[in-house]
Amino acid sequence: MATIATNLQAVRGRIERAALAAGRKPGDIALVAVSKTFAAEHIAQAHAAGQRAFGENYAREAVEKITFLARLPLPPPLEWHFIGPIQGNKASLIAKHFQWAHSVERERIAQRLDAARPAGLPPLDICIQVNISGETSKSGVSPGEEIGLAEAIARLPRLRLRGLMAVPEPTSDVKLQHRRFALLRELKEKLVSRGHALDTLSMGMSDDLEAAIAEGATMLRVGTAIFGKRDG
Ligand SMILES: *Cc1c(COP(=O)(O)O)cnc(C)c1O
Repeated sequence: MATIATNLQAVRGRIERAALAAGRKPGDIALVAVSKTFAAEHIAQAHAAGQRAFGENYAREAVEKITFLARLPLPPPLEWHFIGPIQGNKASLIAKHFQWAHSVERERIAQRLDAARPAGLPPLDICIQVNISGETSKSGVSPGEEIGLAEAIARLPRLRLRGLMAVPEPTSDVKLQHRRFALLRELKEKLVSRGHALDTLSMGMSDDLEAAIAEGATMLRVGTAIFGKRDG
């Protein structure tokens, strides 16, 4: 069985090859290891192999792991990214324990995150999630709606808007992968032209990270290729 360290090395190799093929610097592409459903012990193994940023999408499960790992001597400190749907009653937990929230899709949630962000911490880094495949069941604002939400977030002092995030429908059609990711890049460029200083495109997972990198991803969220298949 492949170890987490070996898997991480393979993912880093994929990132490097895809970046070079796209004429980009591998160092400009951050890797968030998506550890949802995996135990703290697996996260510690990835950290020992040089991984710092971790993504979670169930707030309660995540905070248990975060508080457990915070007690271990694991320098440098881990960086936590919330990537799942944000329920109103979990906003406060997320604001207190995470450095990033990638999945903001409503002004009301942004306000709650802002209100709950502790004064001793830097502003919470935010991405707006956009539903770029147009599936009715998917999370995220519809393309176009990110403009108003970005303006609302920009007014909240305890949040720092960094960019856009998307989870397109799974497809083996590489051209379609490119089209979806290109749309997110264009939406981000539009926001930048409206004066928002954005530096983040959070897109690309285990099965489509090459297309995401070619279309400008600056942050990948990779789970299965690092930790293995999730149960259920
Ligand atoms: C689970 C998850 C991922 C990781 O997906 P893999 O296919 O396992 O790499 C990335 N982003 C989000 C929002 C997720 O929920």
